[in-house]
Amino acid sequence: MIHTTFTVGRLRCHAIEAGRQWLDGGAMFGVVPRVLWERRIPPDARHRIPLALRCLLVEHGDGLVLIDTGIGNKEDERFRDIYGVENAGAGGRTRLEDALAALGHRPEDVRWVINTHLHFDHAGGNTWRDGSGRVAAAFPNARYAVQRGELDFARRTNERTAASYRAHNFDALAFQLLDGEREPLPGIRCLPTAGHVPFHQSVLVESGGERCCFLGDLVPTSAHLPLPWIMGYDLEPLVTLESRRRLYARAEAEGWLLCFEHDPVVALGRLGRDGKGFGLVEPRRVG
Ligand SMILES: [Zn+2]
Repeated sequence: MIHTTFTVGRLRCHAIEAGRQWLDGGAMFGVVPRVLWERRIPPDARHRIPLALRCLLVEHGDGLVLIDTGIGNKEDERFRDIYGVENAGAGGRTRLEDALAALGHRPEDVRWVINTHLHFDHAGGNTWRDGSGRVAAAFPNARYAVQRGELDFARRTNERTAASYRAHNFDALAFQLLDGEREPLPGIRCLPTAGHVPFHQSVLVESGGERCCFLGDLVPTSAHLPLPWIMGYDLEPLVTLESRRRLYARAEAEGWLLCFEHDPVVALGRLGRDGKGFGLVEPRRVG
């Protein structure tokens, strides 16, 4: 199964499996002890855990909207081995394009690409390398949108942030830059959720009184729902904590559906109480 279809009010949405990556389990769970996290997502012999590269496609009245783009096809074998990338698709492209085709769409049909942030596992598929080796926009008729601060941050890396930002994923694109909470098209609302990076955003799809939030790296998997289960990758973990607290209050009050970008098993679910803390209810598993 390469996509999970659901509706938000009048909008048809598809959680798309654009492939997988395998990342260090300890890094994914930060200060959470391994004896706790390994029960939730068991690691392999190299201490890595499988992670989805899930994107969200919304069939919107103004055209197809794609949120995040996976890793793309431009990285070399060494990179693909380190990060355990499994995303190859038909015709030298990726499983993202395969899933689009299965839904009856071509890359040219996508009108909007919105990035939660520009890390390679979220924006890698923004561009693609064609048969001649040229790098071009993967969705040539789309308007690309990201927070202004994030593009700035991605262009001015330091020793700690450089490995996650690869210029070929964003340098040649003309972005529509967002400043804070914005609704670039009706019912698609970008919510600043800082912490993982300073200008990270989550994307809220709203229609007919229903809401689904694509969380990005604010809560990468359903196992990360407890407030302090924050990734070691987060640059400002205490800011992540407060971003989550704010978003959870709204998600709980308004009964939001939540879409997890990296959960290897659960594509969607709702926020529930798990004793004193938060957990998942109504999980919708992939396949
Ligand atoms: Zn990520």
